[in-house]
Amino acid sequence: MWDDTIAAIATPLGEGGIGIVRVSGPEAMGIAGRLFQSASGANWRMKGSHRLFRGRVVDPANGRLVDEILLGVMRAPHTYTREDVVEFNCHGGIVAVRRVLELALSAGARLAAPGEFTRRAFLNGRIDLAQAEAVIDLIRARTDTGLEVAAGQLTGRLSRRVRQLQDELLGLVARVEASIDFPEEDAGFNSADDLECGLADLIDAVARLIRQAETGRVYREGISTVIAGRPNVGKSSLLNALLDENRAIVTDIPGTTRDVIEEVLNVRGIPLRLADTAGLRETADKVEKAGVERARELLQQAELVLLVIDAGAGLTDADRELIKLAGHKKGLILINKSDLGGAAVITEQLREMDSKPVLSVSARFGTGLEQLLDAIGNLVLSGAVAPAGDLLVSNVRHQDALKRCLNHLKAARLSLAGHMPVDLAAIDLREAWEALGEITGTAVSEDIIDRIFSDFCIGK
Ligand code: GDP
Ligand code: ZN
Repeated sequence: MWDDTIAAIATPLGEGGIGIVRVSGPEAMGIAGRLFQSASGANWRMKGSHRLFRGRVVDPANGRLVDEILLGVMRAPHTYTREDVVEFNCHGGIVAVRRVLELALSAGARLAAPGEFTRRAFLNGRIDLAQAEAVIDLIRARTDTGLEVAAGQLTGRLSRRVRQLQDELLGLVARVEASIDFPEEDAGFNSADDLECGLADLIDAVARLIRQAETGRVYREGISTVIAGRPNVGKSSLLNALLDENRAIVTDIPGTTRDVIEEVLNVRGIPLRLADTAGLRETADKVEKAGVERARELLQQAELVLLVIDAGAGLTDADRELIKLAGHKKGLILINKSDLGGAAVITEQLREMDSKPVLSVSARFGTGLEQLLDAIGNLVLSGAVAPAGDLLVSNVRHQDALKRCLNHLKAARLSLAGHMPVDLAAIDLREAWEALGEITGTAVSEDIIDRIFSDFCIGK
């Protein structure tokens, strides 16, 4: 537990119906007591927990009314941070919210660092690290599916699975160590077989999680996409047609200045990240102007390439060049302006080139767009079958930890199979266990914790 009390504005800054100042720590009740007067005159401090009280905030220095508010009172330990928490629900707009925060600070609170409330929830053991990370994913989710994955992680689905695996691992470690203490005769053949079997199962389980992780990551982070093609093939028209119905909700990420504003398309739950339209337009046109080198560079930055060809113009040498440049990138070739005819011929020519999957669309008439969304979905998830609700891993940090875990498990299997001294296997199994612990935060450095929470917004 901490001996200081933190405070922050927990709602977005700007005009709104209410704004909330959240205070957490041992002094939370005392601070509220100094600033708040209940409307009924009753002593709210005697009236239990998880209740709302109507009243006013008054500046103790001069007795002036600051705002009419609702005070939320939540006593430890059943709170977000497991500490005493009060929330001032202000009604007077941004000035009042700021004033209430100032008063809370002068009454003894300290301004909370980004993510500090959630960090306390983690350090006080209410949630583990994977759950804390889910809080921010939940806030930043750009599609329903992304939200579903984050919400699952917040309820602790991933954490439970990780702990299960850790338990199984500990069982193996115990058996390996038993065979160190009672080597050869006592342990016997059967137990060695057993051990290998258990290890193989674990390796499968971890490998399965890693395979799913890619899908989870795509739902969480989205996929960077470039729409490429010669000038006037209809790239902007296509983008606009798609954005019309499928624009994803994008929240600003505080503390990061992004050099490009992204458009984000919601494609079957996958956030497809496209650089802003103006930039895209420029980008696309530059492909031809600036030549092959530049085009290669632009295409390489993207994870997914949508290459647009003009049905009316037929397949040109420049188109062929772009197709070659897109090379082995994940992507689709879109024959746009299919309303002008000519798509069938181009499709045939493309088949001879053995290029990417081809689709005919018309940005102007909106034809083929649904098929396009399906095709992108299938391509990006490469037919991955796991429904979003079953995905456990979506975060690169977790993915890394799992990969390290897997490597240690494999090393342990090798040394057991090669009849190396069992201590070696035991060491690898322990390290595999620790790698898993990094996910839930039982074995993680202060640096990593700092980095995770510095990504949060203030007030969360
Ligand atoms: P960009 O330079 O590749 O971004 O191309 P634009 O989106 O600016 O479109 C170039 C021209 O093609 C514009 O006049 C569009 O109206 C026209 N265009 C775009 N899509 C279609 C389509 O599906 N059919 C037809 N007939 N014209 C289209
Ligand atoms: Zn354009």
